Amino acid sequence: MSYVTYVHEMSPDNRIRMYRSSQPNLSDFDDFEVDSYLISTGRFILFCDTLFHPEDMARIVHDLGQERVGRPFLVMNSHADWDHAWGNSYFTGEQTAPIIGHTHCRTRMTEEREKTMLASFQQRYPAQFSSVILMPPTATFQGTFTLYSGNLTVELFDAPGHSLDHIAAWIPELCLLLAFDAVEIPIPLNKKTLQACRACSLL
Ligand SMILES: [Zn+2]
Repeated sequence: MSYVTYVHEMSPDNRIRMYRSSQPNLSDFDDFEVDSYLISTGRFILFCDTLFHPEDMARIVHDLGQERVGRPFLVMNSHADWDHAWGNSYFTGEQTAPIIGHTHCRTRMTEEREKTMLASFQQRYPAQFSSVILMPPTATFQGTFTLYSGNLTVELFDAPGHSLDHIAAWIPELCLLLAFDAVEIPIPLNKKTLQACRACSLL
């Protein structure tokens, strides 16, 4: 089940839309939330992160309605953590789209550890994660990767720290930085939080 909401107050520019997903029924994660961004340009529609599972992305794509007609989908993963990339498999079949990520993001998502983690989630929470299929990025880079559209430029670049495969996005026309987990509360990340993240494989 998807618990995605459109957070309209976060962006005064309708080309950039923020969606927030939560998982209220996971006993291991109190009030766990994660954000995704949709960037609607003149040439393509870019989904920045795919949240917890394919149903989250289906909800966001449904919101697009006729706006999607004539413009291909692109996807990027800020990093391989489960709450940012487990919705990737929505973009298969009729919705097939390139998925852009750091080279190490693809490595992480093909490791045995990720498969074990998904199997564990599917066993503990079958209602939420039975539809998830690990789908690593199909286009990878290190350094910078720039997308040009008719009205916006999206510059993806290495932003390690939270994890080695982390990237961020800069949109110069709007002076807008999408930092994802490169900036998160508490700032700075304290030792206790760091240990909790490592315990649940978030790092
Ligand atoms: Zn993360």
